[in-house]
This record gives sequence, structure tokens and C-alpha cells, in this order.
Amino acid sequence: MKMLIQDQLVEAEGGDTIRVANPATGEVVDSVPKGGREDAKRAIDAASEAYKVWSERPSIERSRVLLKIAEIIRASVGELATSLTLEQGKPLGEASSEINSFANTCEYYAGLIGRQRGAHTPFSTGEGFFIVTKRPLGVVGAILPWNFPVSLMGWKVAPGLAAGNTFVVKPASTTPITDIKVASLMAKAGLPPGAVNVVTGPGSVVGEELLENPKVAKIAFTGETATGSRIMEGSAKLIKRLTLELGGSVPMIVCDDADLELAVEGAAWGRFRNCGQSCTSVKRLFLFDSIADEFIRSFTKKVKTIRVGNGLDKSTHMGPIHTEEQLEKVESMVEDAESRGARDIVKGGRPSDKELQRGNFYVPTVLGDVDYDAKIAREECFGPALPIFLVKDLEEAIERANDTPYGLGSSVWTKDVERAYHAAERIQAGTTWVNSPPIARAEVPFGGFKQSGFGRELGIEGLDHYYETKSIQVLEYGKGKKWAFPIN
Ligand code: NDP
Repeated sequence: MKMLIQDQLVEAEGGDTIRVANPATGEVVDSVPKGGREDAKRAIDAASEAYKVWSERPSIERSRVLLKIAEIIRASVGELATSLTLEQGKPLGEASSEINSFANTCEYYAGLIGRQRGAHTPFSTGEGFFIVTKRPLGVVGAILPWNFPVSLMGWKVAPGLAAGNTFVVKPASTTPITDIKVASLMAKAGLPPGAVNVVTGPGSVVGEELLENPKVAKIAFTGETATGSRIMEGSAKLIKRLTLELGGSVPMIVCDDADLELAVEGAAWGRFRNCGQSCTSVKRLFLFDSIADEFIRSFTKKVKTIRVGNGLDKSTHMGPIHTEEQLEKVESMVEDAESRGARDIVKGGRPSDKELQRGNFYVPTVLGDVDYDAKIAREECFGPALPIFLVKDLEEAIERANDTPYGLGSSVWTKDVERAYHAAERIQAGTTWVNSPPIARAEVPFGGFKQSGFGRELGIEGLDHYYETKSIQVLEYGKGKKWAFPIN
């Protein structure tokens, strides 16, 4: 597979390639160009030229192009989902829903772009008025992770294109293929050539060029908190606009009046979807003492029904962890908790099945009596292992929930609306889901408090992050004061 620069599929100038492996089998799926700084520069130049055309297109045209993109992507869901499963590992059903969510985000911003309102306000002195308009930023560098390579590209390119910007996308080196396919399909929807480019290659090279190149106005990033910090640093010199969606350690609180059947399903969905590799996966479960035994009994039953396997197999519920390195991280967090006295409620770990040993599989694991200082409680556990903590009441749960440097999401389960609101107002996180596991929706702004990042994606707020606000002050003829200098 080649990368996409100015609507052409091209090799890297240096001629090197990166192999992309299937996490379920270890087999090579394909290779992509190992792009360098020169390749990134060509793509940035192409996006810069495309910006001159695209930013001048009326919003109704930009809206139609986004709708066309959604239509083309929806027509290719099957093929794109298979491609995503092969390189990322997630089950086909989850891959299809990710592709559809990309189309959905395009449709949402297609609808929003024509309905924007500005403001016209008279000066308080009566001499004239000002208007506040929005201008696109220019070329945006979108730096993507491997956990949701397609939907997270949509969170960036859909609002960005709607606002009139153009893109150089830098996919994760382990999941570049479906992003190239999606961008190639987008190029058929009426965008000017070079409006969306995909440059594959190491973050430390291609990514750094995006940070340092003066033609790139903004970096939209999703990934690890430490990388986010490097991105702030690298783009500080040129005062680039930034949105950073970073790690999370989502607490889920189940109160004593919660619907336990629903909460059990919600916890399983929230922890094990995408093999637990989501910034908003449930990573710490807090149960009120009084319902803990009952909850743990039915949650254990539920977790034991999860079928781990190759994502291409329709009977699979949960695919592999994305890379061996990630698997080792999860494994070491579980071992660390066990060495501090944690009890295995569901003992998972590496499977004994020979076929599964070829891939990066890890059977769901649930731990009780976990030390609050264990790594699994303090760091982001990006895989299918869940620590459970017991709390006496909501105040203790909130205090524990906030005891983390992260603040992306949180989930509270109760039938009492006052309790839910009380918790939502006090938990330091960008979103609180009530009686729902964490799930993003195109119309709801999404982003972090604390070290989970800043800026918002999705919703109207997401669109605002692809604009500069411009004020135009107009003095009405004959009303303005006479300008005389010096002032006395
Ligand atoms: P990274 O943050 O390292 O990678 C995300 C993206 O940033 C990739 O495209 C990567 O490129 C790029 N990148 C890396 N270094 C730079 C740089 N110096 N300048 C510009 N871009 C750069 O995440 P990982 O994929 O390594 O995952 C590590 C951990 O991050 C996970 O264990 C998990 O805890 C967390 N994570 C969180 C996510 C979230 O949604 N919040 C998503 C993914 C991971 P390349 O792939 O070429 O290195």
C-alpha cells in the first residue's frame, strides 16, 4: 500500500517501507512507505495549495462534499471494516461500527456548517458596530493513534474540512492502511487535490515535521499523555493551535440503587469493547459495599462468556491486544497488582490455546482487593484487565475517582437523579455518563480535564477548534469621532 499525497498514491522518497502486522496472527498484512521529512513537506505543500481553493468554497458546497464522503464510505463499509480488523485486530462488528461512525461524523458536520450564526453588535458608544466572524486556520496536522484509527480521523477531518481547512494525516505506524483507503475514497467526493493527504512514517520524523513546519497552523492529536506533552513542546516555538486528546483512567461508580443487570452489561461493554483499548474504557470499577457481592457474582458470569479470538471470526467477542508491547504492559500491571495482594476474581492472562498463542491475545481479567497504589490503579491500563474497589458511599467513590492525573471520562450508575448530578458536578472529567458506559456521540463535545488534554472534539465546540475568531470593527460614516493626534 502506498501513501496519499496530492491525491496520488506514492512511495517514500527514501524508498524504505514499514511492515504492518496482523495482531491476531503475527502475519504481515501489507507494508507502507516509511515517509521522511521530505515526504511530509510535499504533503504540507499540497495541503497548502488545496487550502487556497477549499477555504473559498461556499459552506453549502463543503457540506455537499462531506455528505458525498459519507455516502462513499458507507458504500465501502464491508471492505474497510475487513481492512481495519486485519491491521488493528478488533472484531468485524466493531470495525464496521467504527467505519459507520466516521460517515456519521461527516454527516453531522455537513448539517452543522450551513447553520452557523455570527454576531452583529452596536458599539456601546453608538459610533458603529462590530461583527464577529470565523476564519479557517489553514493546514492541520492530524496525528492519530492505533486504537480507533478511522473514527478518530473523522473527529478531526470532518469538522476541519467543514470549517474550510485542509489536512496532512499522520496515522499510527501500526494502523496506516485503512486510513489511506478512507482518504483515497474521500478524494473522489469533490475535494480539491491535496485537501487530505496521508503520510506514513515514524512519529519522531513525520510527526516532528508537522510540529516544526511553519505552513502547519494546528496540530490535532490523540494518543499518549507523554507524546501530547512532546507535541506541546515541539509546536510551542511557532505558537501552533492545538487540540490534545490524551490518556484516561475512567472510573465507573455503581451505587446501591443502580439497576445491577444493566450495570453489569455496561461494565463489560465499557471495559472489554476494543479489547479495553480506548481512552474512555472503564479502567477502575467502584462498587458500593452493599451491592458488591451480587454485582461481582453476575459480572464474573458475564466476563467468563466473552469469547476471545481472531476478529475475522464472526463468533469472536474480543480480539487481540494491538501489539506484543502493549500486551506486556497490561500483563506487568496485573502482575504488579497481584504482587501487592490483589485477588483474581476472574483469572485471565495469556490463553493456553495454541492457535491464539500466535497473536497478542489476553483473556479478560478481573481483580479484587487491589492496592490503590498499584500501577493498574494509578496508570492507564490499555487492555482487558479491570480492578474493582469497594466504597462505603458516593463521597468516597468521588474522592477515589478523582485521585488520578487523568480526567477524560467517568460513569455513574444510580436511579437517583440528584445523586447522579451531584457526582457529575464533582468528578473532574470532561464527560460523565449516567447509567451508560462511555460512548462518544457526534453531537456531544468530547475532551479532557487535567492531564487528559485540552480542547474539545465533536459537537459545535469541536467545530470552533478549527476556526480563528475574527472581529471586524466598523465606524458608521459621519458618526465616528474625528481622529486627531496627539491625543489631548
Ligand atoms: P503514541 O502517543 O506514542 O502515538 C500516537 C501517535 O503519535 C502515533 O501516530 C505516533 O506515531 C505519533 N507520535 C509519536 N511520537 C511523536 C512525536 N514525537 N511527534 C509527533 N507524533 C508522534 O501512542 P502509542 O501508540 O505508542 O501508545 C502508547 C500508549 O498510549 C498506550 O499504551 C495507551 O496508554 C496510550 N494511548 C492512548 C490513546 C487514547 O486514545 N487516549 C490512544 C493510543 C494510545 P508512531 O505510531 O509512528 O509512533
